[in-house]
Amino acid sequence: MKYFYIFIFYSTFLYSTSFNFELKAIKLSNNSYYFYGKEEYFSVKNGGDISNTAFIITKNSVILIDTGSSYEYGEEVKKKIKQITNKPIKYVINTHHHPDHFLGNNAFSNSEIFSTEFTKNEIAKNGDLYIANLNNLVQGAMNGTKIKVPNEILKSNELNLDGYKLKLFYLDGHTKSDLVIYDENTKILYAADLVFNKRTLATPHANIPDWIKSLEKLKKINYKILVPGHGKIDRTKNAINEDIAYLHYLDNTLKNSARNGFDIFEILARPIPKEFESFTMFKEEFERSIINLYPKYEKRRMKN
Ligand SMILES: [Zn+2]
Repeated sequence: MKYFYIFIFYSTFLYSTSFNFELKAIKLSNNSYYFYGKEEYFSVKNGGDISNTAFIITKNSVILIDTGSSYEYGEEVKKKIKQITNKPIKYVINTHHHPDHFLGNNAFSNSEIFSTEFTKNEIAKNGDLYIANLNNLVQGAMNGTKIKVPNEILKSNELNLDGYKLKLFYLDGHTKSDLVIYDENTKILYAADLVFNKRTLATPHANIPDWIKSLEKLKKINYKILVPGHGKIDRTKNAINEDIAYLHYLDNTLKNSARNGFDIFEILARPIPKEFESFTMFKEEFERSIINLYPKYEKRRMKN
C-alpha cells in the first residue's frame, strides 16, 4: 500500500505541469484555420495530439470543429485561437464519438456544443471508458479531462450561427454517425474521419459498404479544400479516391481470405500493395482492421 501512495505521489508530481502540444494554427482562408494532428497512435510523447481540429472565425464569434483528445489540448487550442482573434469561441461541433475528437470538450464549458443525437449518446455512455483508456496511453496529458456531453442536437441540413451559415451532411461508415460540415463561403469541406489523407483508415466502428457510399457523396461536392480527420489537407479528390480504393482493397482481402480459409497471420503476411505504400500507419491500422473485422467475414462465409 505504501508503494502505491508513493507511486501516486510521483505520478502527480511528474504530470502536474501542463503538456505542451506545440500546436500551430495553419491558415486555410481569410477566416479558416486548422491544427494538424500527428499521424501516430496515442502515446505519452504526443500527448494524444493525433487528429485534426479546425476553426472558423465569423463576424462575432469562433466556431470550433472538434476538440481533440484532452482538456489540456482544448486549453492550448483556446490559447492559440486567442493569439489570432479576441472573439469568443461560442460554438463547438463534435463530428463523431471517437475520443481524439471530443475529449477536449470540457475546456469549452461556456460554449454551445453541437453533435448528432447518436454521437451525444455514445459520448455519455462510453466517455469515461475512453478517458480511462487514454489515461494509460497518454498519461499526464489527460489531466483535468472530464466528460462534457454536447448540449445541442443537430438535425437540420443547415446551421446558422450568428448569421454564418454552414451546410451539414449526416453520413456514416466510419462510425454510425459521421457529421460532415461544408462551408460554402470558403468552399472548405470539413470531412472529419470519413477521410484520412495518406494516413491509413481506422476502422474500429466501421461499416465498409456504408463508408464507400458516404465517400461517393462527398466526391460530388465542389470544394476547394478538404480538411480530413487525419492527415494533411487536400485540394483535389485524391484523398477520397484513395480511401475508396483502400476500403475496396480491405473488403476484397477479407472476403477472399474467408473464401480461401486463410487465418489472420496469412492475411497479415501479404505484401503491401504499391498504391498504399505511402500511407502512414499502414501496418498498425491494417493489422487492427483485420483483427477487428475478419471474424465477421468468416462467420458470414460459414453461413453461405
Ligand atoms: Zn474517428
